Amino acid sequence: MTPGVSVSGSPVVDGGHLVSTSPATGEEVGRFPVADAAAVAAAVARARDAADWWRDLGFDGRRKRLYAWRALITSRLDELTGIMHREGGKPIVDATAESAGAIDHIHWAAKHAKRVLRSRRVGGTLMQSEYTAHVEYQPYGVIGVIGPWNYPVFTPVGSIGYALAAGNTVVFKPSEYTPAVGQFLVDTFAEVVPEHPVFQIVHGLGDTGAALVTSGVDKIAFTGSTRTGKKVMAAAAETLTPVLLECGGKDAMIVDSDADLDAAAEAAVWGGLFNAGQTCIGIERVYAVDAVYDAFLAKVVAKAGKLTVGAEPGADIGPMTMPSQIDVVRRHIAAALADGGEAVLGGPEAVRPPFVHPTILVNVPETSEAVREETFGPTLTIARVRDVDEAVERSNAAHYGLAGAVFGKARAMATARRLRSGMTSINSTLSFAGIPSLPFGGVGDSGFGRIHGADGLREFARPKAIAKRW
Ligand code: NAD
Repeated sequence: MTPGVSVSGSPVVDGGHLVSTSPATGEEVGRFPVADAAAVAAAVARARDAADWWRDLGFDGRRKRLYAWRALITSRLDELTGIMHREGGKPIVDATAESAGAIDHIHWAAKHAKRVLRSRRVGGTLMQSEYTAHVEYQPYGVIGVIGPWNYPVFTPVGSIGYALAAGNTVVFKPSEYTPAVGQFLVDTFAEVVPEHPVFQIVHGLGDTGAALVTSGVDKIAFTGSTRTGKKVMAAAAETLTPVLLECGGKDAMIVDSDADLDAAAEAAVWGGLFNAGQTCIGIERVYAVDAVYDAFLAKVVAKAGKLTVGAEPGADIGPMTMPSQIDVVRRHIAAALADGGEAVLGGPEAVRPPFVHPTILVNVPETSEAVREETFGPTLTIARVRDVDEAVERSNAAHYGLAGAVFGKARAMATARRLRSGMTSINSTLSFAGIPSLPFGGVGDSGFGRIHGADGLREFARPKAIAKRW
């Protein structure tokens, strides 16, 4: 083993550098200088110096630069997806889909920022006959963005693109598992905005992220686990730094008696196992009503059993990116079986690091860790329920509330409204990744605040009230 390189794909720090390695082969992908608290503070100071220039470019000036960034990333898409594959183990088709979604967000944010954040004249009260009153949407200043590894392009760009379009500068701390992807984003941006350090990167482990939270940035946009999100919020409370938290999930899918079962099974497999199940809005639990349970389960098992697993760029399921996550998946499968559940596909033998083969678990009690906590692997629990009311009740019992799905016809809309989640799709899964105008975010332990769409733009602008007396 080369010094400083982990064969398991875990990042290590070697001589002041973060060494990124492939989860499939242990091959070194890149080395990046670790930013300590002083380096983080220096980056934030540079971003603050650049803030007025970027703000004063105005919506039209920023739109041109963001369009140029989008065009540059598009022209180098093969390079980007290659890095994502080597560094995160992501199959090329998944990497391409993710990058295409991120590019859409840059476009949407740049195109709509002027309309969404234009200053507005307000009126309506008697007292106002003496005033003209306006609301202006001003950038915060410097936004600290902290990202995860599972969608190392789509997820941070969902904050960064909107923060930049709204007129903020950004200091980005990518996951220690995907620094090379983060570096690609910052380097390409610097090519189209060479004048000032509008978008910078700080590499490192969690302590670099913690230093960014307390660095005096004007807002933190965090995406990651609920456990870390709580630490970020506690630290930010010391200085009343506003936070936006995009955290974990345990998303449920409901299959009603009038659902198209082929479509539902396809979507459960796609929604649950895509990206090796390492998807915040991935389906982890399915509740199928008694009348269709057996037929639905048979279709899911047949489809999931055909998926290919491997390190090749064309595999359906690649290696797990984070070695410690494999331990969580192993523990949840064991818990499901110990608690009385049964594996109808996969099971303990499906865990073959760095791979986990598709695993479908049934008859797992709701009290099991496998049903209550985020697994983040290519596993699904599928439960038989009496009716939609029971499905809604069990779906809503989770302490998370990110996304979810309903398959059916007559009651689908009403059922979707009853689900306690920030996002619910009907007759599809993972839809929210592909519709930039929809707000993205959760409730409960999945966090708060919204990225994407008009609401996502407003997250990165402070409303400023101006009342002028004649
Ligand atoms: P994580 O919480 O381990 O790490 C996220 C980031 O926080 C990393 O960059 C890490 O270095 C940094 N960090 C660690 N400790 C910190 C601290 N004390 N202060 C500040 N930053 C710190 O999460 P992860 O394993 O990288 O990502 C997977 C998790 O992210 C899953 O739970 C997944 O559901 C969630 N996620 C949520 C969304 C969403 O939009 N809701 C999207 C993608 C991923």
